[in-house]
Amino acid sequence: MDSKNMIDWHARAKALKIDGRALINGKRVNAVDGQTFECFSPIDNRKLTDVASCKAADVDLAVSVARAAFNDRRWAGLSPKERKQTMIRFADLILKNKEELALLETLDMGKPITASLNSDVNSAANTLRWFGEAIDKVYDEIAPTADNTLAMITREPIGVVGAIVPWNYPMAMAAWKIAPALAAGNSVVLKPSEKSPLTALRLGDLALEAGIPAGVLNVLPGFGPDAGSPLALHMDVDCIAFTGSTAVGKKIQVMAGQSNLKRAWCELGGKSPNIVFADCADLDRAAEASAGSIFYNQGESCNAPSRLLVERSIKDEFVRKVLAELKNYQPGNPLDADTTMGALVDCGQMENVLKYIASGKQQGAKMLAGGERVRGETGGFYISPTVFDEVTNDMTIAVEEIFGPVLSIITFDTQEEAIRIANDTHYGLAAAVWTRDISRAHLVAKALRAGTVHVNSYDEDDITVPFGGYKQSGNGRDKSLHALEKYTELKTTWIRLA
Ligand code: NAD
Repeated sequence: MDSKNMIDWHARAKALKIDGRALINGKRVNAVDGQTFECFSPIDNRKLTDVASCKAADVDLAVSVARAAFNDRRWAGLSPKERKQTMIRFADLILKNKEELALLETLDMGKPITASLNSDVNSAANTLRWFGEAIDKVYDEIAPTADNTLAMITREPIGVVGAIVPWNYPMAMAAWKIAPALAAGNSVVLKPSEKSPLTALRLGDLALEAGIPAGVLNVLPGFGPDAGSPLALHMDVDCIAFTGSTAVGKKIQVMAGQSNLKRAWCELGGKSPNIVFADCADLDRAAEASAGSIFYNQGESCNAPSRLLVERSIKDEFVRKVLAELKNYQPGNPLDADTTMGALVDCGQMENVLKYIASGKQQGAKMLAGGERVRGETGGFYISPTVFDEVTNDMTIAVEEIFGPVLSIITFDTQEEAIRIANDTHYGLAAAVWTRDISRAHLVAKALRAGTVHVNSYDEDDITVPFGGYKQSGNGRDKSLHALEKYTELKTTWIRLA
């Protein structure tokens, strides 16, 4: 029972009716070939529902209706103000259905219900509202050309957007793509991850209810190679907005090149460094944020600070403080309101993480805490928060994205060494520096090759700022007005005034 608002999430979960069919042209439909896949909950491995297993034929259908919707301008042709009003209704409906969406997210993906309810649902609604609100405040440009000419620089919707998203923040990631794409007037075919397709389908229903015309937002659940590849290879898709692993992101770029050279925006993985200098003003706060940011969402966050770089003179004291935080992240049943760490998304992901833990031990890192499967008797997939000390930056656990609750501690002696280690990665999504020295903060922040750098924090987040990576963490940016650049074409129109 949720003591704060008296919701019995376990009872709600039992009573929940789930529709796993695809959404094409405003209707819930089976896959063209009638095939489905089984969707299980990582909480206890119980089957939730059968989900339409979409493939190339479904993609062809969805892209053709999205194209028709774009061409007849049933959405693109509305004034920005009208699109804004509809998107705000969409955001309101998400909040109205908050409890159902949060429950679906938790059942499907394993994150704690309190996080789904207070963070993920709000984030999705806020993203849709923000881009809706923004779109009638974005102006075009007139270039400073000669008196007898007028050169207008305008942004137009790009057309049909294929959005392919991962399983770790299913609703929020879908919203990061569809909100700017829809606000700009595009039609969208959204492919959620096969590991967590349920909330994206409900978002599609709510978009329709809000008044987004049929065919403008289509949702196709299915496996990556079956449904994602045909979307990325489609000759009539103008842009792929992808969030996922670097390995698949590389394939997406190839598919864009092999087909119609569609824009391919990739938001990919990370191995983010979190540098704590001995002159950090508040080691307690630094320890809280360091642990909170790696163990939140079971460590399944692209920007999680998985490499903790600590200056040698404070290392022992700081590690003690980090270890003291672990009591706040002990896995529990995600449907209990006081659970702060839930289940990993599926058995495969749990096994991957356990393999990384084994490799850390085998390569000589010192395991200080965790490192094992827990709550196995539930049938679900839980790992205790794990901390490795004495990690070197060439160990596999420091090089590869683990995407689980595993923290690697690396010790350094000088600022130059910290910067070198921090940047010695093929990722570049996020980073942090903790120091009370303002010059050092600026110099290190500038030297870090990452899309987001935090100073004396790790957990800041706002829709107003861009999110995305350097290097193999991807290209393009989600969130903020910059995201509109991904979903619009830039047109120059010359007018001769003579
Ligand atoms: P993934 O790359 O395995 O899958 C992502 C999506 O791509 C899924 O919908 C999947 O079905 C699809 N896909 C898989 N193979 C495909 C193929 N051959 N063709 C087309 N589509 C295909 O990633 P994941 O395991 O779902 O998510 C975890 C990854 O996402 C991590 O690397 C994480 O860092 C990254 N991520 C990045 C951000 C960001 O903003 N940079 C945000 C969240 C997650």
